[in-house]
Amino acid sequence: MFTWNPWHGCRKFSEGCENCYMYYLDKTRGNDGSKIYKVKTNFYLPVARSRDKAYKVPAGTQVHVCLTSDFFLEEADKWREECWQMMKTRQDLEFFLITKRANRIRECLPPDWGDSGYPNVTLTITAENQKRADERIPILLAVPAAHKGVMVAPFIAPVNLETYLASAKIEFVYADGENYEGTRPLHYEWVKSLSEQCARHKVPFEFFGTGNVFVKDGREYHICKAYQRIQAARSNLSFPPSDPATLPRMNPRCATCPRNAQCNGCRNCGKCKF
Ligand code: SF4
Repeated sequence: MFTWNPWHGCRKFSEGCENCYMYYLDKTRGNDGSKIYKVKTNFYLPVARSRDKAYKVPAGTQVHVCLTSDFFLEEADKWREECWQMMKTRQDLEFFLITKRANRIRECLPPDWGDSGYPNVTLTITAENQKRADERIPILLAVPAAHKGVMVAPFIAPVNLETYLASAKIEFVYADGENYEGTRPLHYEWVKSLSEQCARHKVPFEFFGTGNVFVKDGREYHICKAYQRIQAARSNLSFPPSDPATLPRMNPRCATCPRNAQCNGCRNCGKCKF
């Protein structure tokens, strides 16, 4: 998997943005996440070539787009067309676009998108609660696209997606709690319910992480970043089940490591100074 951030920075858009991880990480580096700019060193990543003329991103790779912004942000209107062209050029890659700005998708599609979209592009909307799901998923379902998905993240309230899942147009649902500076709790029952909804409609469901605060059987658990994914996998709510090989590695020292709010798994980096 590759991450392609052709631009960086964003404007907060809905309640799911309250504890945006990009703002948090920028702050830790002394930067301001509201400053939006084109990432010149990364902008042409999909078509960049090595000295031997081969593409730097090999064929068959999944490319996650705009993880430090929103692909349909107004400020990026002047840069988006070139990105569409690169996605079209690299038919051998799979591009995953994730957005909260479902209302802008249609007006931002390229002229040659057609009735079913580019075959190598997946449109995914995030829906943090029922209100945003009801607002954004109908738009997603109405837009032409070869692949569509829904991400319930940060999962801050129960959601019922039965009506949308019944459309058979949603290929997957992902769920994740709130992390970094966020403390809005995720309840086990909400995830279980969503997992069961997906099972009823045979839509693959992946529970990525519990978030910082996870509530189960009336008890509140505070869970560090890397361990969130491990605990989510142990819940057995994902199907197909999470691949154990993709789970983060933990060490006993992770419990007190000062970086455990942002660490994605221990690589013995030494920054925890133990
Ligand atoms: S849309 Fe995404 S990147 Fe932009 S502020 Fe919200 S959470 Fe952050």
